[in-house]
Amino acid sequence: MSDVQQEILVEVDTEAAARARWNGPRNPWPAVFVTAWILAVFVFVAVSVYENAWRHHDVATSFWIGAAWAVPLLIVVHATHAVCFRRGGPLARRQDAVFRRAADRVLAAARAAGMPELDEGGVLRMLRARDNGPDPGTGERGGPDRPLLRWDLPLAGRGSRTIVVAERIGTAEPGGSPERTRLTSGTRPGAVAHPGAARPVTRRTHDSSAGAAVLGAYRSDSPAPITASRIGGAPAVPRDWEWPTCAEHDEPMQFTAQIEHRGTLVSVFVCQFDPGSCDSWDADSGANAAFVFSGRDLVSADRPVSPHGDPDDPDPAYPPLLADSMLLGTAPVTDAGDDTVSAALDAAGAVVAGQYGGEPDWLQEDETPAGLAFVASIESGPLGFDFGDAGRAYVFSDGVRAAVLWQCT
Ligand SMILES: [Zn+2]
Repeated sequence: MSDVQQEILVEVDTEAAARARWNGPRNPWPAVFVTAWILAVFVFVAVSVYENAWRHHDVATSFWIGAAWAVPLLIVVHATHAVCFRRGGPLARRQDAVFRRAADRVLAAARAAGMPELDEGGVLRMLRARDNGPDPGTGERGGPDRPLLRWDLPLAGRGSRTIVVAERIGTAEPGGSPERTRLTSGTRPGAVAHPGAARPVTRRTHDSSAGAAVLGAYRSDSPAPITASRIGGAPAVPRDWEWPTCAEHDEPMQFTAQIEHRGTLVSVFVCQFDPGSCDSWDADSGANAAFVFSGRDLVSADRPVSPHGDPDDPDPAYPPLLADSMLLGTAPVTDAGDDTVSAALDAAGAVVAGQYGGEPDWLQEDETPAGLAFVASIESGPLGFDFGDAGRAYVFSDGVRAAVLWQCT
């Protein structure tokens, strides 16, 4: 790193994140279910036998009394699980708080040391990841593969000549010495902004007085431009653009939607490789991605290659690119209420696919990402996206960056 000048160095204790990373979210429910079922069967048998042998009820009646003792226990256990531990539910979010607190500490330490403001999402991805892939230069000539524990952290501002590198020190295995994350920042002479990156624009403030519109999805036989707003099908992307992969699964994310928005195309991807096993509801999880494409030189994306998925399965349940596709149009929301809008869409052969503009209609609490304005929400219904139970994805942009998250009921 001889080209790095003016180094600033700071170390942050990230042991809590390391523990959460290695232990994963603790899930006591398999043990609870097994115990509850064993107990329920035991209670059922014991009560039935007692009622039959000692209280001289006939066999059927004894069984019913036994069931009446055992079943409520199971109902309580399963109902508690359904309410508290569903995906994207309050407890899943609480488990995520460990990483957010560690990220806050990293951001605060960087700020205090005079480094440029780091991108919070990048810091979160670094903290959650076990490694940054294999270390290049290891694993050759029969040598062992070593994980790379260095990350180039993205900065909140674009076009900066500063780079910040995070390095994980301490032991990577559980039970090792406490983990610390060392941040090094320096100026790279001659560094330029990412080629092709859109120039930062003055952020337009969100015009909340603008009326919301209903996004209607419809099928059309007439050819539409590749950049038309749509759900499913193939996205329109810049040449040499790389399909985003899930940080958890390392599989291509599924293209959800692209939405024409103020002269740009906001394109949304959510991992559906194995829904529920990655935090695709979280805007910062690395299990979803949103892009702002501008310019006219967009091409229809090719189907991405799945590195681990079953190559023999010609029809995976959650392909990254849906064969089915519906175009999106907007209808202004009237005072008459949703039923009237739905009826009008029905008459036009369309279904409600979401909302465009206006204020987001949150299913849970407001989670608008800092600095971004609401673009649209997308319902899971029309093409069967997996956003949890009756979930809805929310898309945000500031004209340069975009983000997506989802909530469910
Ligand atoms: Zn995933």
